[in-house]
Amino acid sequence: MILADGQGCMVQCDGCGAVGEAVETRNPRTGSLTAAFLPKGWKFDVLDGEHIHRCGECFAAAVEPFADRRAAFEARLDHLGAGLTVDIAASLGVPIGLGWRWAGEWKSRQFGEAGGMQ
Ligand SMILES: [Zn+2]
Repeated sequence: MILADGQGCMVQCDGCGAVGEAVETRNPRTGSLTAAFLPKGWKFDVLDGEHIHRCGECFAAAVEPFADRRAAFEARLDHLGAGLTVDIAASLGVPIGLGWRWAGEWKSRQFGEAGGMQ
C-alpha cells in the first residue's frame, strides 16, 4: 500500500509489511502524482481490483499479499459474521475486494455453499 502521497512517498509491502521509499514523479503542470516507482525489486500487482505492492522477497517467494492477516480476518468472521466483512477488512487494513473473497471462501467452508459474493 502507498502510505503517503507527500514529499517522500513510502510504500509498504502487502506481504510482510516491509517499508520502502518509492521514487515518485509528478505532473509538472498539475503537481499531481503521475506515477510512483517502487523501490528496486518491488512489484506492483492488481488483486481483486486493489493495488498491491510487494517487496522483492515476497514476490520471489510468491507470498500471498495480506496472508499474515487472514487468520485474524477469519477469526473475526467467526465472531462477527460475514455481514461485517467491510468493517473487518477496514479494521485489518485488508482491501475490501480481498475481504469479500476471503469471506466468500469462509462462508463456503461454514455452510458448504458456493461462495460467490458479488
Ligand atoms: Zn514483503
